[in-house]
Amino acid sequence: MAAVPTLGEIVSEFSELDDATERLEYLIEIGDTLPEFPAAARVEANRVQGCQSNVWLIASHPADAPERVDLQADSDAPMVKGLVAILVAAFSGKAAQEILDFKVESLFERLKLRAFISPMRSNGLHSMVLFVRNLADKTVEASRASGGSSVPERVESLKTNSSNESDLPPLTQEEVRRLRDDFPILATKTDDGKPLVYLDNGATTQRPRSVLAAMTAAYEQYFSNVHRGGHSLAARTTEQYERARQLARDFLRARHSHEVIFTSGTTAAINLVARSWGDANIGANDEVLLTEMEHHSNIVPWQQLAQRTGCKLRFAPITDDGQLDLERWSEILNERTKLVAFTAVSNVLGTINPIAELTRRAHAIGAKVLVDAAQAAPHQPLDVQRDDIDFLALSGHKMLGPTGIGLLYGKESLIDAMPPFLGGGSMIRTVTIDGFSPAMLPAKFEAGTPPIVEAIGLGAAIEYLNAIGLERIHRYEQSLAQAAHAALASIDGLAILGPSPEKKGGIVTFTLRGAHPDEVAKVLDANGVAIRAGHHCAMPLHQRLGLPASSRASFYLYNTLAEVEQLAEALRRTRKIFEAK
Ligand code: PMP
Repeated sequence: MAAVPTLGEIVSEFSELDDATERLEYLIEIGDTLPEFPAAARVEANRVQGCQSNVWLIASHPADAPERVDLQADSDAPMVKGLVAILVAAFSGKAAQEILDFKVESLFERLKLRAFISPMRSNGLHSMVLFVRNLADKTVEASRASGGSSVPERVESLKTNSSNESDLPPLTQEEVRRLRDDFPILATKTDDGKPLVYLDNGATTQRPRSVLAAMTAAYEQYFSNVHRGGHSLAARTTEQYERARQLARDFLRARHSHEVIFTSGTTAAINLVARSWGDANIGANDEVLLTEMEHHSNIVPWQQLAQRTGCKLRFAPITDDGQLDLERWSEILNERTKLVAFTAVSNVLGTINPIAELTRRAHAIGAKVLVDAAQAAPHQPLDVQRDDIDFLALSGHKMLGPTGIGLLYGKESLIDAMPPFLGGGSMIRTVTIDGFSPAMLPAKFEAGTPPIVEAIGLGAAIEYLNAIGLERIHRYEQSLAQAAHAALASIDGLAILGPSPEKKGGIVTFTLRGAHPDEVAKVLDANGVAIRAGHHCAMPLHQRLGLPASSRASFYLYNTLAEVEQLAEALRRTRKIFEAK
């Protein structure tokens, strides 16, 4: 048998081969050089899951160098065996941190074998890379826990980014004017030829060209289904889809990308938790604690759970200025509370709730938390590890991304133990006529063809937000809210709901004496200013406030101080129309 080539020899040999078939032949040759794999080790426990062929892998740490990882591997498919040999040459004998840092995707790109490393679920090589990285990750973690210094660089660099951001100056009006050019719709005019002043960002936001371009490129240049098919298009689409998941993981500062489950939005994510975790963990004697400021998406799924299980729902009260009444929190939270589900930012009042504090209190009595981040994720940095969040839901369309895509973040230990919610293709490992076994995370919760291009669009939206910085966006929006409070204060009969601007995000909801919120919105619309009127899917909150409805202006990074003034001016005109009231 020929000697096992080194990684350098493999790279050099591949660079000589122009023809794709010759490269595949050489791949099979390398596979033949793999050392004999012990027959006794060809057992299920050593089989890498997620491969169509059989791949076996044993990883060990040499006794004299426990930080290093030695690999032995084999496959019953000749080409896969060649790929496995390349991986062994790349990883074996390396320290765990070196394995984590090694850009294996770039290596396969260089060898012109990129399609083989795509993150397709049936791709044994990809599953093997995940397996080895997972092992290296655990080794680094263990070394960190025992006082070792090898903190993964990825996590460190994220921390550095977030702390630097707060030192940066807030967005200037000049910067905002420039970034508005990225949003074609903002240059459009109303039917009357008035410039559009879009202040309905709480309902949905607009999309920058980069998001539109990423989606068009996906459809025009490489579109296919994901995680299936043995061809390069499927590989490339899967790569981009999984890249979006990694961007989402970094955006939330989650530990693993498989803790990110793509859903159609916040509503679907909360329903997933209510059905899967709720049905398995909540009984008739249990309580779910919500707050009086929740969106219907974070009320109705729990009411449905209560209908199924008989559990009790409790609602944490708010103060008259629209903040959670934390003093009364300890009366309500008790040993029967199994889940506390709250919005991070109220879509009506703009109130920013203290995620870390509420989570700490919930965990102290053994309850889990679900954070509805639909209105927070687009506007402020989040950190699911720092705040020890169990579940978090968000929607892409509220953060410059497309509709039809959102996600559920779930702590690995929780979602791993949860049963699948929707059944179908992709979410299974095996199916027989007698039953099925579920796939690994995150596939277990992504049944059927997912919103592929929408996920890619969400990835592009995250990149756009990252380039500006969430902390800067947050501070800028607070300055817009402050300016709006100041400008609207002088309008007779106008009452702003919720707390003072420093305690909230860029949402200004109000009532105008004598005018129905819907009529206010109509007059504003006639002036080119788009706001939302109604109960904003928060009827219990409006009942608490004694109001049938309200008018809401909600800002985003592309709104200007001049637009705040246009809102105020349009409201002064509205006031005149309803003067007699
Ligand atoms: N929660 C909050 C706080 C919201 O503002 C919204 C959207 N208005 C949702 C949940 C529901 O989001 P989606 O409709 O995207 O599922």
